[in-house]
Amino acid sequence: MSGVPENVPNTLMLEEIRKEDIPSVGGKGASLGEMASLGLPVPKAFVVTAQAFRRFLIEAKLEERIFSKFRGLDVESNEALEAAANEARELVLNASMPSRIAEEIRTAYRKMAPEPLIVAVRSSATAEDLPDASFAGQQETFLNIRGVEDLLEAIQKCWASLYGARAIYYRAKQGFDDHSVNIAVVVQQLIHSEKAGVMFTSHPVTGEPLTIVEGSWGLGEAVVSGTVSPDNYVYDQRAGKVVDRLIARKLIEIVSDGSKGTRESEVSISRQQAQVLSDEEVARLAMFGRIAEDHYGVPQDVEWAIVGGDVFILQSRPITTIGMTPNAGSSGEKRVEAKVLVQGIGAAPGTASGRVVIIADAKEIGLVKEGDILVTKMTNPDMVPAMRKVKAIVTDEGGMTCHAAIVSRELGTPAVVGSRTATQVLKTGQMVTVDGEKGTVYEGEVAPAPTPKAVAEVASQAAAAPLITATSVKVNVSIPEAAQRAAATGADGVGLLRIEHLMLGLGKTPSWFIKNGREEEFIKELYDGIKTVLDAFPGKPVWVRTIDAPTDEFRNMQGGEDEPREHNPMLGWRGIRRDLHSPEQFRLQVEAFKRLWAEGYENLGVMFPLVGHPDEFVQAKAMMASFGVDVENVTLGVMVEIPSSALIIEQFCEAGIKFASFGTNDLIQYTLAIDRNNEYLTDMYKPKHPAVLKLIDYAIGICREYGVECSICGQAGSDPVMAEWLVDHGIASISANIDAVAKIRQAVAKTERRILLEAARRSNA
Ligand code: PEP
Ligand code: MG
Repeated sequence: MSGVPENVPNTLMLEEIRKEDIPSVGGKGASLGEMASLGLPVPKAFVVTAQAFRRFLIEAKLEERIFSKFRGLDVESNEALEAAANEARELVLNASMPSRIAEEIRTAYRKMAPEPLIVAVRSSATAEDLPDASFAGQQETFLNIRGVEDLLEAIQKCWASLYGARAIYYRAKQGFDDHSVNIAVVVQQLIHSEKAGVMFTSHPVTGEPLTIVEGSWGLGEAVVSGTVSPDNYVYDQRAGKVVDRLIARKLIEIVSDGSKGTRESEVSISRQQAQVLSDEEVARLAMFGRIAEDHYGVPQDVEWAIVGGDVFILQSRPITTIGMTPNAGSSGEKRVEAKVLVQGIGAAPGTASGRVVIIADAKEIGLVKEGDILVTKMTNPDMVPAMRKVKAIVTDEGGMTCHAAIVSRELGTPAVVGSRTATQVLKTGQMVTVDGEKGTVYEGEVAPAPTPKAVAEVASQAAAAPLITATSVKVNVSIPEAAQRAAATGADGVGLLRIEHLMLGLGKTPSWFIKNGREEEFIKELYDGIKTVLDAFPGKPVWVRTIDAPTDEFRNMQGGEDEPREHNPMLGWRGIRRDLHSPEQFRLQVEAFKRLWAEGYENLGVMFPLVGHPDEFVQAKAMMASFGVDVENVTLGVMVEIPSSALIIEQFCEAGIKFASFGTNDLIQYTLAIDRNNEYLTDMYKPKHPAVLKLIDYAIGICREYGVECSICGQAGSDPVMAEWLVDHGIASISANIDAVAKIRQAVAKTERRILLEAARRSNA
């Protein structure tokens, strides 16, 4: 038995294993041993060593017979790869296990517990789970194994899985020599978990001390394999509490199937949207995660399970996510000590440090310097030039759909809105750090500002892995300078281009241009801005929305003095209502569209905002015809953002709309009577309120009957859970913010796959 050290046994009990044993027990086995020695609650286990596998190959005279199949193998040829893999696996499966090895396995199994335990059998390749060489998922796992005969069979199957086609391909590409790669097998007590999942002990990208826990019902395989969208909890180790949670709709769980194996089972209705973990359980998991991370010195990717109130740690390995840097931990540590000055709503992701500049209104934008942190009550369109210069934005007022939130997300500038007190608590000149994800402003410079390169990398990663979805995933754009970033997401088009933002550079209201006979300037500005966006999305639909700005948003601009003072601008003279009353303002916009259509931009569609009755659509269309548009041959549609338009959507379809898009920012406020910009009502502003969902569901159904594209461009479309619900209910397209396109596409793809799978299963039944 040359090459196999005699002193290494065929099996090692968990208590005997240390991290130095990696060559014998693999990364997974060694890590379990280490965790057990730290006192973490690891289920009982033993490992069939890599040496046992090698002895098996030698004694069964398999080595040369297997390796000859890989010599000169072209792994790029599917057929050749599959054939070699199948033959190698057959050899392993058909050979008989040397009796000494089988006997030692029997003994180890008996040592676990007097009664035969139900176990999981997992591979632990000797290069597996090591940093930079994660073989995760390349070998198989066998669950719910009971009794020694089944165990021996499962171990042999596990050995055979070392020669799966994917595993061979992966090793060839990574430069691992098949002759020297061994496989150890972990035999671990199966935890019949009531809930299970994974956790990242620190933020996988920034390294911040935020523990991210994902969990679902049943065995953890459902989460690891991506069969379900799990709940997601964020635990802030500095604050010692759960700071964010996203409760997903969990349709499937994996459970033990009687005596052998597992099966998927439907989750009962009452548990589908129930919260899987209590805050206390998240905190306990985070504590165990911390112990593992502290021990290994790097953030860990941990699998966990809970049954009857007992937490088990099943596996821990280093996070191999791109972007993790050794420095990330130190920035996190600095933050632990950081003092929180202001807490609001995280409206645009990213962190930045800089000096505070507080401004009362747009007249003071001259005070704002490049790299400052802009603090104000609420931003206005006329503050955009200043917003472009700053590193972060903090407002007293507003929610996720306010002006500051929308513009910051597009500029890629971190923003915190609705803080209530920022303009009082913060002082001009003070150094602060803004976390636009969590909505927190810290005293001093406590985290490195993300470089534009890092931001670009994230965007390009998102674009680098395009997923094909039947539901179009589009992007929202408000400022033309964001067009390239928006296109880099790989979006299927623009589901909303808000043109009121295009006029901001001019600093004057539309009526000022009309009053002063400067119409051409106005048309040119719109034309140029829209064209920039159209050019970034060649051949893809771009839905341009006609002007929708409440009168108060225009007040500070030149000409704003003529804007009427309304008691309630949100319910007032805005959207299509205003254009129908102001034919000249409407005509100038249409003129810009006409020029673009004349130049062949057929992908330009026009969307009317705040439409409440089909007559408004009919009138707008007739006015466009009177301005010389061939209205039957261009794409005209409406926003559905007033409950009335959802309720009588059928009449809109009859009136000839080509598409309808939910403006949930407004639809929610008008359905629930909750001002979308009122920071005191944030917790009552509920996108998933059953009344809102009912309206959406109804309108989607009617649009589908009429073959009218039904879409969403409100902020709710940037929430993956909502996206899942929308796809489930038949939406045709979703338009998200630039920063959300990648995750929405993933949510859409996952949901579509689930729907197909469920349909296939039904037709098989
Ligand atoms: C909406 O209401 O959802 C929408 C997209 O329009 P705005 O936010 O511009 O009102
Ligand atoms: Mg709206």
